[in-house]
Amino acid sequence: MDEKERARKILSVLRENFTLPRWVSSNRTPFETLVVTVISQNTSDRNTARAFENLSKRFMVTPENLLNVSVEEIEDALRVAGLYRNKARILKKLAEIVVEKFGGSLESIFRLPLEEARKILLALPGVGPKTADVLLLFCAKKPTFPIDTHINRVSKRLGFVDGKAGYEEIRQKLQKLFDAKDYFSAHILLILLGRRFCKARQPLCHECPINALCPMGEERLKNA
Ligand code: SF4
Repeated sequence: MDEKERARKILSVLRENFTLPRWVSSNRTPFETLVVTVISQNTSDRNTARAFENLSKRFMVTPENLLNVSVEEIEDALRVAGLYRNKARILKKLAEIVVEKFGGSLESIFRLPLEEARKILLALPGVGPKTADVLLLFCAKKPTFPIDTHINRVSKRLGFVDGKAGYEEIRQKLQKLFDAKDYFSAHILLILLGRRFCKARQPLCHECPINALCPMGEERLKNA
């Protein structure tokens, strides 16, 4: 079976085994998505959600509102997230840039061709490749494949890339293996696989729904 066929089968098995979580259909604005992604850096999903909720309870999370509140108030709301002081400053700066350079909305960036939009997002403070790609895929519906820590690990274990592959190599490879129309669901489903079965320390290969399609899983089951 060639790699593309294996990727197609993996996606189909994952679709049968997982339901897309509720947050996938949340109607966050692009700016809220940017804020959540910045908060999520080095922070668990639970604490990211709590920090964002704390922030939204105080005011609507818009660039204008973030620009007008004090950095201390943002810090206070983000306290449950890691590096909250730094993140509060980044969010203030982002709000300032979005208001002053982009008229208070990310839409003008999203209308640009993918690579141009990506370059502009990557130049923003606190925005790395994953944040840029999440915004482009989730909010601008552009064909890019964000790579988070779970997808990084799972892609290597599935043998799609070698163990030393970096962000860009994995992104390019997954974009080749999956059809662009499937990037969104493949991104979410690979994260769910990483969280529930392909755990960092103890992958649960014997229970994993795609173990027959995974070289590492096959090897581990053979030697069990
Ligand atoms: S079989 Fe094991 S290594 Fe392969 S994806 Fe599943 S949990 Fe990960």
